[in-house]
Amino acid sequence: MSAVVTEVDRQVDTPASGPREGAFGNAVALACRECGHQVALGPFYACPECFGPLEITYEFPAITREEIEAGPRNIWRYKALLPVPTDIESSPNTEPGFTRLLRADNLGRELGIENLWVKDDSTNPTNSFKDRVVACALSAARELDAKVFACPSTGNPATAVAAAGARAGIKTVVFIPSNLEQPKQVNSAIFTENLVAVEGNYDDVNKLASEIAGEEEGWAFVNVNVRPYYAEGSKTLGYEIAEQLGWRIPDQVVIPVASGSQLTKVDKAFQELIKLGLVEDKPYRIFGAQAEGCGPVATAFKNGTDAIRPVKPDTIAKSLAIGNPADGIYVLDITRRTGGAVEEVTDDEIREGIVLLARTEGIFTETAGGTTVAVTKKLVETGVLDPTKETVVINTGHGLKTLDAVSGQVGAAATIAPTYSAFKATGL
Ligand SMILES: *Cc1c(COP(=O)(O)O)cnc(C)c1O
Ligand SMILES: [Zn+2]
Repeated sequence: MSAVVTEVDRQVDTPASGPREGAFGNAVALACRECGHQVALGPFYACPECFGPLEITYEFPAITREEIEAGPRNIWRYKALLPVPTDIESSPNTEPGFTRLLRADNLGRELGIENLWVKDDSTNPTNSFKDRVVACALSAARELDAKVFACPSTGNPATAVAAAGARAGIKTVVFIPSNLEQPKQVNSAIFTENLVAVEGNYDDVNKLASEIAGEEEGWAFVNVNVRPYYAEGSKTLGYEIAEQLGWRIPDQVVIPVASGSQLTKVDKAFQELIKLGLVEDKPYRIFGAQAEGCGPVATAFKNGTDAIRPVKPDTIAKSLAIGNPADGIYVLDITRRTGGAVEEVTDDEIREGIVLLARTEGIFTETAGGTTVAVTKKLVETGVLDPTKETVVINTGHGLKTLDAVSGQVGAAATIAPTYSAFKATGL
């Protein structure tokens, strides 16, 4: 799956007024994940033959660790492995990536894992991993001469799109479910005048976006018609984890699953690094984390089936609340092939996960990260995850985005009169 294609069919049709030479770096075509049919690079996302999802393929030149290490401390250090032009650093962007990879010995002790790391993507420009994918989508939108930069969103994409568009000086329009947490709405609206709240869940918003993308000229919806470019941005998480471990792939990685794109791209990144000889080939296991209130992939994994039944999301993990995940089938494929699993946890476990990470490592994560921590705990307890193996947990977003989730969980230990005796009475 998702092999690095080095030979492509050069007979691919190129539109008369296509993108400029080098617009997509070492990317050479879009290939269907299902039937392999290839189309020229453009604003396409579905296979004209079978409607399968299109994915970027590349012809990579030889690339060394030193060349990458000499690059900027953001995702563009991997520009040779992304569908972006070679001069990408010179165009205005919010420069996400190269976030910290932290040893998590305290959390490891709590969970019984000997060798644990947290990849902390809450420190990206708009405090979630979505800045990575949106930066790649923005580059594609520009190269394709889009007039409007847009997205249907579970929250974080809207914020990332609105901020990146503001900095790049391109009009943004972002669509969210109207029941989204208030802080996330403010987080997007601060960057754009064009926040549209849609009465419905994410899947309804997504459907509307696809319709607009089909009707309107020149709209680049990051996760719809430029999704193949957008999705590639998630590979940088895999590259960074390997580079920050000293060019080594970890034994186990735990990744939250919404559409499933991020998980599949971390796997693609590891495969590319191996093929390019940048890391040693070794077995690794990939685990997916979902909330019980929206766990269609976890359910299919447990049932041992490939059929993912769409669900109506009902969970505090709103950034993971995609009831009909586009890449769910590939998540099943990868977790099964690598000897991983997809597990789900309750909203209460998610809240406990958030508090646990905060109290052990000083990292405040949003509900998606609470889900990942709680799933990691459950996987150790059920003997699925090997606690003796090097493990990386990905924290994809900042806790300030979902304060409500834990505001009933934590607070003042005591409210006292401003006197020493009152303080002593607290026993602190
Ligand atoms: C979007 C998102 C994810 C998952 O992304 P997919 O690639 O759609 O699976 C995880 N965490 C956070 C915080 C997100 O915003
Ligand atoms: Zn196809």
